[in-house]
Parts: sequence; C-alpha cells; structure tokens
Amino acid sequence: MKTLTGKTALVTGASRGIGRAIARRLAQEGALTAVHYGTNEQAAHHTLELISQEGGQAFAVRAELGVPGDIETLYTQLEDQLARHHKGPEIDILVNNAAISGSARIHDITPELFDHLFAVNTKTPLFLLQRALKNLPDGGRIINISSAATRIAYPESIIYSMTKGALNTLTLALAKELGPRNITVNAITPGYIETDMNKHKRNTPQAANELAAHSTFNRTGQPTDIADIVTFLASDASRWITGQTLDASGGTHL
Ligand code: NAP
Repeated sequence: MKTLTGKTALVTGASRGIGRAIARRLAQEGALTAVHYGTNEQAAHHTLELISQEGGQAFAVRAELGVPGDIETLYTQLEDQLARHHKGPEIDILVNNAAISGSARIHDITPELFDHLFAVNTKTPLFLLQRALKNLPDGGRIINISSAATRIAYPESIIYSMTKGALNTLTLALAKELGPRNITVNAITPGYIETDMNKHKRNTPQAANELAAHSTFNRTGQPTDIADIVTFLASDASRWITGQTLDASGGTHL
C-alpha cells in the first residue's frame, strides 16, 4: 500500500543526485512530486522519465536559487503546474535539498564565497519555507537535507559546514513553532553519498576506498540510502518525530 497517495511534494535540486532519488521515492509512494532544478534541464527531464516509468506523477519547475526573486520564480511555476494537475495550492511535503559545496579553509575564505554559499544553502531554504507555510496544511512535513559536516570537523569546508549548521538550528526552532499544527520539521545529515558533488574525491580506486572507509559499513552511501529516510519522515509513520537532526552517515566516525 502506498503511503503518500493524495499528497503533493516539492523537492529542490531533484535533477540529480540525492534530490532525484528522493523525488523518485516520494512519487513511488503516490505523491504528486514537483522536481525542482536549477540549470540542468536534461537531467530534470530524465528524473521525470524515471518517475513516469515507475508509475508516479511529477512535473518540473526551474529556478536558480540564491538570487533575488528565486522563490517567486519557483512558486509561479509550481502553482501553475499544481493547478494543471487539479491540485494545490497546498504542498504537503517540502524537501529542502538543493545546495552547493565549496571547499575553503579559514585563510582562503572570502566574503563572496560566504555570501554565495549562505544564499543557496541557508537563506533560500529559510524563505522557501516561509513561502511554503502559506499553503502548508496541518500535518505537513518539512525535511531539510543537512550534512554530517555539522557533527564532524571538516576545516577544509568551513563555510559549507556553517550553512548546514544553521539549517539544523532552523529545524529545531521551526519544529516548536509548527508543532501545534502537527507539522513535523526534521533534518537529515548524510555522510559521503555518491553524487556529482563529491565525484572529484572518488577519482581513483584508492581514493574511493578511503571514502568508503569513513563509514562503519565500509561503503559510500547511495542516494537511495537518504531517499528511504526522507520517505519515512514524509509519511504518517514518523508523526512522533520532530525537531530532530538524524544522522544518516552510515556510522561515519562513530
Ligand atoms: P548534487 O549532485 O550536486 O545536485 C545538486 C542539485 O541541486 C542539482 O539538482 C542542482 O540543480 C541543484 N542546485 C544546486 N545549486 C542550485 C542553485 N543555485 N539553484 C538551483 N538549483 C541548484 O548534490 P547532492 O550530492 O545530491 O546533494 C544534495 C544535498 O545533500 C545537498 O543539500 C548537499 O549539501 C547534501 N549532502 C550531500 C552529501 C554528498 O556526499 N553528496 C553529503 C552530505 C550532504 P541542477 O542540476 O539543475 O544544476
């Protein structure tokens, strides 16, 4: 039996990687899923094709995030598409997944890098949430994709880690605010997951083995490892969990 039949979901950054896997799983469970993407139209359409082959329903919305007007650009298309599918304006499940990484140690960081990473990874999720709450029904679900870099020190990615730390704090505060409406707000912190974001770190078999060894399971995570957790958090089965930052790093640095 499908757990999300009749629900609507928005997954940011669903053209590739973890976001694509999340969109596929939510659609498999019956949610009409908005596949957001930034620039990679071909990849976004491939996500839609996969969902369609799996019997799910989805549509694409394009918006560059972290720039002025980004939320309205996204929402204009989202509401239009929901109406075409005889749905909306409610979004039952919002997954803040889109983000960028950016390696820089303390001596190399710049105000420009700080502003850019915070704009995409923190400011946009916050204001997307603010916009989504206008139409998020009681019992809705908010899931923020954070990073294990908030628990494990990665001085080579100091700003990236800070952007995700802020997301965890946002998760906690908002969970209290929205609890009376039975809206749950949770964050997930993946460790290394095999996506484009870190493929440069897996460019030799030795490097790939070293990354895998971070996990107590001695393998790198797959996007589906995260998508299954998101699907649980999106479902009614997770109704008693809120305000949590769930470690999903395959037991990295236990
Ligand atoms: P990815 O493969 O690099 O994909 C990023 C996705 O976000 C793409 O769909 C991309 O759209 C979209 N995106 C990025 N910047 C955007 C912008 N400015 N405007 C609009 N869309 C934008 O990333 P991933 O590895 O799947 O990561 C997904 C999430 O997991 C992120 O929040 C990341 O921080 C987190 N995470 C990943 C890992 C890991 O090891 N991979 C570990 C911990 C946490 P386009 O394709 O259109 O460019």
